[in-house]
Amino acid sequence: MYHTNESRYETMKYHRCGDSGLMLPEVSLGFWHNFGDTGVYENMRQMCFTAFDHGITHFDLANNYGPQPGSAEENLGKILREELSSYRDELIISSKAGFDMWPGPYGNWGSRKYLIASLDQSLKRLGLDYVDIFYHHRMDPDTPLEETMGALDQIVRSGKALYVGLSNYDGETMKRAAAILEDLHCPFIINQNSYNIFNRTIEENGLKQAAADGKKGIISFSPLAQGMLTDRYLNGIPKDSRVNTDGRFLHADQFDEKRMASIRSLNEIAAARGESLAQMALKWVIRDGVVTSVLIGASRPAQILENLKVLNSAPFTEEELEKIDQCALS
Ligand code: NDP
Repeated sequence: MYHTNESRYETMKYHRCGDSGLMLPEVSLGFWHNFGDTGVYENMRQMCFTAFDHGITHFDLANNYGPQPGSAEENLGKILREELSSYRDELIISSKAGFDMWPGPYGNWGSRKYLIASLDQSLKRLGLDYVDIFYHHRMDPDTPLEETMGALDQIVRSGKALYVGLSNYDGETMKRAAAILEDLHCPFIINQNSYNIFNRTIEENGLKQAAADGKKGIISFSPLAQGMLTDRYLNGIPKDSRVNTDGRFLHADQFDEKRMASIRSLNEIAAARGESLAQMALKWVIRDGVVTSVLIGASRPAQILENLKVLNSAPFTEEELEKIDQCALS
């Protein structure tokens, strides 16, 4: 039986999510990869324990995380039931709906029908009465925003989620959604978007500024660009890396000579700071205090420990930030 580390809250930093009452850990753990049917259950357990033992109180899921879709929620459900049930009130568990989940017109996008049915399924897989945060996973160009936001509001009112979030929204759409949710008095507190040294979309589409202006939190997913912003690929593509173990979203052809030169020069900047590339890349995401939490993935406990070093990472000088931009954007 797992017993947690008594000193788990001593080193983690917790940041307020926008102007809400909720504090999130500076580092959160995502279940997109390595927690599905193809993962090793003992490794999943150990990653959950390592995270929680170090104050990572937030586990992020979605209906479709797997493979098979739903299996990451099932595996966490088992771990929660068997080992972490007594810590439920110390954990923030999130889930989402918005991508293709089941056949037919009601298993995708943003209808009230899909969101409510999907969360009911997620709760069964997780073995929970409620999730702490429920997200709409992507913008739906065809469903009225009022309907999707109304569904999120209904979900909170029915007690199946405590807070709601939006994922992969741009700044303008987020602002319109936020106004609807505010009218409904629905606790919309967080945006989940990709943000890392290589991917600056939220700076370009207005989301980062709109979140700061509207006092909403941001949790940035793929802060390590799926592992590119680590030492993992400096000497070629390892057999046990995501590119080889799960080729769905990260491919060998993304590591062309230009990208490799960029990774190598970023690694040198990190070394000059006395840090690993992963540590520096995570610090970059939270450098200006706008992002609430970095949402890392991991394939083993040691990576979680390495990534926690961001907590001790030094602030950047202007010169370092300029060099990072030159390496990443040229
Ligand atoms: P990261 O950018 O943190 O990439 C994680 C991967 O990088 C790991 O699986 C591992 O790959 C490698 N890695 C991590 N730490 C280290 C380290 N210290 N040294 C070397 N390699 C390391 O995040 P993800 O892309 O996994 O995304 C994180 C989470 O964000 C997801 O689990 C999910 O919760 C969320 N997400 C949300 C999305 C959305 O649409 N809302 C979309 C995508 C993700 P390897 O397997 O090669 O070891």
